[in-house]
Amino acid sequence: MDLRARRFKANSEAALANPVLQANMKTAKGKFVDKRAISIREIDDFEGTREAAQALRNQVIENLDLWLEKFEETATARGATVLWAKDGAEICRHVVDIGRQHGVKKAVKSKSMLSEEAGLNLALEAAGIQPVETDLGEYILQINDNEPPSHIIAPVVHKSLDEVADLFHAVHKTPRKTEIPALTREAREVLRSHFLTAEMGISGGNFLVAETGSVALVTNEGNGRMVTTLPRVHVVITGIEKVIPTLEDLSTLMRLLPRSATGQSISNYVSVLTGTKAAGDLDGPEHLYFILVDNGRADVVGSEFQDMLRCIRCGACMNHCPVYQTIGGHAYGWVYPGPMGSVLTPLYTGIENAIDLPHAATLCNQCGVVCPVKIPLPELLRKLREKQVEKRLRPWSERVAFRLWAWVASCPTLYGIGTRFAVRYLKWLAGGKPSIPVLGAAPEWTKGRDFPAPEGRTFRELYARRRQP
Ligand code: SF4
Repeated sequence: MDLRARRFKANSEAALANPVLQANMKTAKGKFVDKRAISIREIDDFEGTREAAQALRNQVIENLDLWLEKFEETATARGATVLWAKDGAEICRHVVDIGRQHGVKKAVKSKSMLSEEAGLNLALEAAGIQPVETDLGEYILQINDNEPPSHIIAPVVHKSLDEVADLFHAVHKTPRKTEIPALTREAREVLRSHFLTAEMGISGGNFLVAETGSVALVTNEGNGRMVTTLPRVHVVITGIEKVIPTLEDLSTLMRLLPRSATGQSISNYVSVLTGTKAAGDLDGPEHLYFILVDNGRADVVGSEFQDMLRCIRCGACMNHCPVYQTIGGHAYGWVYPGPMGSVLTPLYTGIENAIDLPHAATLCNQCGVVCPVKIPLPELLRKLREKQVEKRLRPWSERVAFRLWAWVASCPTLYGIGTRFAVRYLKWLAGGKPSIPVLGAAPEWTKGRDFPAPEGRTFRELYARRRQP
């Protein structure tokens, strides 16, 4: 697998050296954070709601096979076909087969991270089916040479208004517009004919409701409804962990999802879609398919990382992450950026393929504090670091250094001598100044910041002096 996640350090350096990206990330910074902080105050017992959501997601994951069977039964009873995919290649095979079976030439797509995991657009093109992204952000990325998204709910957050204006002007061959309403109108005009001519609609699914066999879609643009109701074939692609038992559970999660994601009390569109078009229905698909995807998820069930499967893809963890806020999403090198991506990418693509991601965090726990389903992200990142050490995946110099550190730290006399020596050495390096611009033993650390010089004696020295009569 050619994963850009393998080059996280190089990707991050490039992101830090990109002035346009840096300016765009600064503009975006805090936007969702402030809105979330305001909107969660609307709920009387926000912590209690988080705990309820955590409990209900745990209950599903612990009985995942049963709830999936229940979903398959109810969805099939409402005229849908449920297919299973173990990986990205199987997702593509299923969608292409469905397309061929129904004579599809064009497929309109609503946002689906699973189709990003599978590289579905390339497979559709290769099969002679034109994929058209209809979420505004995804559409912008598609016409910009199929650029990957950089955020799970705001895929184009790394771009400025000016960049989008230039792109529309170049691709649509229309006069350059700089007002957001004019740009969105232009996109709508282009997309309208695609909605009306596509034979197949492809969407993701925020939740699958087992008791009714429904898919719940949460969006802020009307495109989701057009994709799922206008074409005669609708294909839902979603992870197996997205199933929830009842509509009442959906209402609990919906108190948290929009608030955590965009700071809205409720998203503009919440659609609960059940079954195929029935006699007398004005719209809806004649054929409905659910593709339920494993792609690494089943291996996480029952493992020490199971908590991660509670994720409802709100993006709050990345919005609050100081690392994500600085480097943006592309540096993470796969579909999911930020703290959730730093856990999911190694789990789904192999721990050896994302060696730096569990270290792309300060472990400040901002992500853990804001996660609406209480996923202990810093703890999972730390566990992944432990796994890397167990599997001897870290560089030998780092392993030797930590062994040495463990040996010194477990021997009080040695530790005392070592810290005294280190403090003297650092003071000497600082030469009387308050900080050290280049650390001899760790030059990378001081590449973008200074190391603070020790101010006085070590803690042990101060403590010993204090104990003196
Ligand atoms: S890990 Fe938590 S905060 Fe991050 S996207 Fe998932 S649910 Fe949201």
